[in-house]
Amino acid sequence: MSLVTFAKIAWTIGVLAWFLIRLPFQIKARKTGVADARRKNAREMILLSISTCGLGLVPALYVTTGFPAALSYAPSPALATLGVMVFLSALWLFWRTHKALGRQWSVSLELRESHKLITSGVYEHVRHPMYSAFFLWALAQALLLPNLAAGFSGFVGFGILFFLRVGEEEAMMREAFGAEYDAYCARTKRVVPFLY
Ligand code: SAH
Repeated sequence: MSLVTFAKIAWTIGVLAWFLIRLPFQIKARKTGVADARRKNAREMILLSISTCGLGLVPALYVTTGFPAALSYAPSPALATLGVMVFLSALWLFWRTHKALGRQWSVSLELRESHKLITSGVYEHVRHPMYSAFFLWALAQALLLPNLAAGFSGFVGFGILFFLRVGEEEAMMREAFGAEYDAYCARTKRVVPFLY
């Protein structure tokens, strides 16, 4: 098997594993009452679609057809190995964030009935560890897929979602939890512990 084929398979398994980690929470979330879905609007749906293109559709097109071949470059065993390790750490973090958020989790910006503010576990040092996990996925994608479009579309797609959403998400949490959320913000960073 060529290195590129190996890397493509590794990326595909990573995405399938992410889907399987998320599935039980997605099923449970459907049964959980929603208290506030004001921010689940067209803008959110567009952002989610852009992110899905960058982390899913563009690389999937490359993995299945090699398109756009003109943007491919020589693969490196060291980068591919690092990519596998980064994807594994992303999956671990996804699993921990889903576990910690439990019934508070939702795909778009929503508040559940009797929503609780989670501040422990992987939420102790960063406020958005699930977004950290998506950035790790984007990094793994760039390391695994030796193609400029497929490799970097994850950063572009998820980056757009993150930067256009995070302020609104924090405003929603502040409105719901007030001083408790301010105190939480004061002692945490957004996605990288102690840095950002
Ligand atoms: N931004 C978080 C969560 C993403 S899921 C992360 O990256 O880990 C999005 C939903 O999670 C939001 O609609 C919000 O209702 C909920 N949420 C975000 N942070 C939360 C927290 N600290 N405690 C409880 N719910 C939270």
